[in-house]
Amino acid sequence: MTNKLKYFIGNWKMFGVFNSFKIINKINKYCYNSRNLHNKKIVLCVPNTLLDFFSKKLKSKYISLGSQSCHYHEGYGPFTGSVSAFMLKKIGSEYIILGHSENRREGDTYDLLRKKVISALNQKLNIIFCIGETLSEKNKKKTHNILRKQIKDSLSKKFNYKKIIFAYEPVWSIGTNKIPKINELRETIKFIKKESKKIFKNKNLKVLYGGSVNPKNIRSFSSVAEIDGFLIGGASQSSKKFIDIIKNYYK
Ligand code: PEP
Repeated sequence: MTNKLKYFIGNWKMFGVFNSFKIINKINKYCYNSRNLHNKKIVLCVPNTLLDFFSKKLKSKYISLGSQSCHYHEGYGPFTGSVSAFMLKKIGSEYIILGHSENRREGDTYDLLRKKVISALNQKLNIIFCIGETLSEKNKKKTHNILRKQIKDSLSKKFNYKKIIFAYEPVWSIGTNKIPKINELRETIKFIKKESKKIFKNKNLKVLYGGSVNPKNIRSFSSVAEIDGFLIGGASQSSKKFIDIIKNYYK
């Protein structure tokens, strides 16, 4: 089994109250008791309402916290209901998910995302940048074109590539229990690495897979060495499932 660094990133979506800290606590205990953590990076991206509380309560050298989106405007501004990357950083966010298909569907355009990336980079947040095709785009064999556009139209060679991680999340796979065929997935991950190399001057960016990852199917991804880790949605809301995903990946 590989010794390469792998990311296990949870996306809690719209889930959790203060009491949900027990989930993180159990994951932290697992990390504490597990001897083999040098090759894993564990991040939990939680709702903004929990970040401050969790970051004060979590004393962990194993788990980092992240957020799930931000307003593009830097600092403060007249944007009712929004929070900026600056405000998220202040309350303990080290990572941020941007470009999630659920947010693209709600109006995150390529241009808006580009501005969000800039404001997150200005706060030195690590960005998990989600890209992925819909089922109809896949059926029309447009996957590569869509991914290329999602990368090129929101990112630029001027951006600090060290702070950007891609998450390939086919929209048809999110929350559906459907996962890509392993050979197709390998080709897509390679394609994303190739395209990002063109933008970021030959720098090798990390690419995660996300979409219906669970303790049962995680083993099937371990043959794809090109995958640098996983963005885990629904299953990250359970400490048992999240821990089992990590354990089973290395079985
Ligand atoms: C996600 O929303 O980022 C995700 C991967 O969801 P799920 O694991 O529930 O498919």
